[in-house]
Amino acid sequence: MVLTVVKFGDPVLRRKGARIESITPEVRQLIADMFETMHAAKGVGLAAQQVGHALQLTVLDIRGIRDRQSQLWFDRQPADTESFMPLVLINPLVRPLGELVSGPEGCLSFPHIYSEIVRTAEVEVTAQNERSETYSFRAGGLLARAIQHEVDHLNGILFIDRMDTTSREDLKFEIDELQAGTRAALTRR
Ligand code: ZN
Repeated sequence: MVLTVVKFGDPVLRRKGARIESITPEVRQLIADMFETMHAAKGVGLAAQQVGHALQLTVLDIRGIRDRQSQLWFDRQPADTESFMPLVLINPLVRPLGELVSGPEGCLSFPHIYSEIVRTAEVEVTAQNERSETYSFRAGGLLARAIQHEVDHLNGILFIDRMDTTSREDLKFEIDELQAGTRAALTRR
C-alpha cells in the first residue's frame, strides 16, 4: 500500500526513532509499504518518520540512478551496488569516513526544495535487515549520501539543518510556507 509521505511541519519528523527489537508482522508490512511508497514517489530513500512512524528503520534503492555513481564494499572487497538493492536498514549505526564533499539533495518531505549539502564521501554501516540478520558494509558516492540523509531522519535531523546559512536563507520562504501549510492541514484534521 502506498502511504502518505509526511511533509515538513509535522512533528513526527523531529522525533528520534525507537529501536526495533523484533521484526513483527506489522514491521514487515511497514517495510513493504515503505518500498511501495518510495518507488511510487521515485525517491532513493525513505525513513519511517516520513510515513508517520518514529522508528529506527529506513529503506533505500538507488537502482536506476545513472548520473551519480555509488560504491559498495564488503570485507574491503568492492561489490556490485545494484545487486545489493533494495536495502533495509534497521537500527543502523553509521560511521562517517573520508573527505567532506558537497552534493545536491532533495527530500520527499520537502517537495521542490533542493540544496547542496556537505557530507562525508563514505560511510561504514552496521544494521539489521528484515530477517533480523546483522550485516556491515562500506558505501561511497550517492549511496553514502543517501544513507547519511536517511539515518539523519531516524534521529529527527533534516537536511535543512545541514544547509549552509546562505542556502537556508535563500529557501526560507519556501520552507516557511511548507511548514505553515502542513501545520494548518494538521489542525484541520
Ligand atoms: Zn529526506
